[in-house]
Amino acid sequence: MNAERDADSRSRGRRRTVDESVVLDVGLLQTEGLLKPGSSGSLSQLLGLGPSAGLAYAISGADLQLTYTVDTEGASRSIQTMIRLLTTPAYFGGVRYWLTCPLDSSGRKLARLYLPPGAGTFGCRACLNLVYKSSLERKRQYTPINWLRR
Ligand SMILES: [Zn+2]
Repeated sequence: MNAERDADSRSRGRRRTVDESVVLDVGLLQTEGLLKPGSSGSLSQLLGLGPSAGLAYAISGADLQLTYTVDTEGASRSIQTMIRLLTTPAYFGGVRYWLTCPLDSSGRKLARLYLPPGAGTFGCRACLNLVYKSSLERKRQYTPINWLRR
């Protein structure tokens, strides 16, 4: 995981935003029934990446395993990230799932993780130093996600 941190620190400059990131929302995954033991498949369509993006997942024990290829610094890298899943009792029975950040060891329960361009791996807003675009500029602009490839 240290290699990912190095890659992250190399791509400084303009602060990256939540808006241009791939957003992994655990509530969406749970709603779609993707967190069942042994479940696996593609998240590309669910996360709005289009059919050509390759973002595969598998539930392995208490971990969510993600496999994807990113373009960083002009080169394609295949990434495999293990994200520990936590659960808490849900108000109406069953459990509620949470993500933990693979870049820190805080074990904080998170609803979302982000994959901004150039980062190389999913992480929490704090680790990736992400801001909301609206806090940088008022104009909202769609940024196509074209750096996540098969
Ligand atoms: Zn983090």
